Amino acid sequence: MKLLKQLYKIHSPSGKERAMKKFIRKYVKRRIPDITLKSDRKGNLYMIKGSAETYPCIVAHLDQVQKNHSNDFIPIETKELIFGYSPKHRRPEGLGADDKNGIWIALRCLEKYDALKVAFFVEEEIGCRGSIEADMDFFMDCRFVIQPDRRGCKDLISSIGWTGLCSAEFLKSVGYEKFGYQETDGMMTDVLPLKERGLAVSCINLSCGYYEPHTDREFTVKEDLINCLHWVEHIIETCTDVYPHIYNMYKADGRYAFLWDDEYEEAVNEIFGMLDMDDTLGVDDLEYMYGLYFPHLTKEHFIQIYQAYHDLRQDDLLEESEDYNEEQQDFRNLEFLHQTASFTNGFIRKTDFSDKVASGKCSFIKESQKQENLG
Ligand SMILES: [Zn+2]
Repeated sequence: MKLLKQLYKIHSPSGKERAMKKFIRKYVKRRIPDITLKSDRKGNLYMIKGSAETYPCIVAHLDQVQKNHSNDFIPIETKELIFGYSPKHRRPEGLGADDKNGIWIALRCLEKYDALKVAFFVEEEIGCRGSIEADMDFFMDCRFVIQPDRRGCKDLISSIGWTGLCSAEFLKSVGYEKFGYQETDGMMTDVLPLKERGLAVSCINLSCGYYEPHTDREFTVKEDLINCLHWVEHIIETCTDVYPHIYNMYKADGRYAFLWDDEYEEAVNEIFGMLDMDDTLGVDDLEYMYGLYFPHLTKEHFIQIYQAYHDLRQDDLLEESEDYNEEQQDFRNLEFLHQTASFTNGFIRKTDFSDKVASGKCSFIKESQKQENLG
């Protein structure tokens, strides 16, 4: 439990995960040979141990919610549990076991196994801002993704918002009954943005032995954490296949889950490019021109993209003109996408274009399609 207590001692509020990252980097470099470490623009950490055709993958988040963390903070360990305490203030203080327990499991597995991928995300607690910008290429050769990041000792989260994260085959293979877990629906955590951004393998989120998260009374039941570790080890050892799973963007009521979709990103790029050529175009023009190409965008999105373009333009971001290169353009578009991430963190109604097509209003429809539709 030495490593676990070291993690608890590091205060790691959202946006201030530097000390935690520094500790992990140092720990990994010293203790785990044959590991590749990298980070992305957002500050997420990625690790690859060994070299294999496919990898098991564990993810966890680096940040914690609690603000209180005195200089004399100590993790107190009893026979059954660990909690945080400040002798000076004579008060309990939160451990940040949510999600340091997940980090601990990932590090233990990195030490134990020859081939493993691990990603640690920043800012999960303030809207999964790290995983929303994760480098998706990292996950291309993963067999499945496990996130130990759930209170208690028995939840196997196989869906979030009642939309599935994993295949029935994967659920059958993980053998959760033996470890006392039950399948249930969960809340927002990093694996959801990964799925929504197209991660095509099964994901699960597991209880990892912390209780009363986000409070100063938070505590860890050691036995529950260790049971979770053993189960994760069991999955790594027995689930050696790739477990494909495509996230179903369409909800049962025909609505479209749209967090950070490529289609939106592409639409912003296209429309910004078009407005660069002709800034007299209005919202209706844009909707008319692009509606068919981007069927999941609503009127509100066109208004938003249009306004963002003109706002940015006014801010002079656009008008450093001549030497304005492609790279800057991409960066600008990306900035806007980041700003609107929270807006798209909802559901967008599927637009039905059949009326427009039938009335011949969509000039973009190809002749052949038109004939098909009429036929
Ligand atoms: Zn968490």
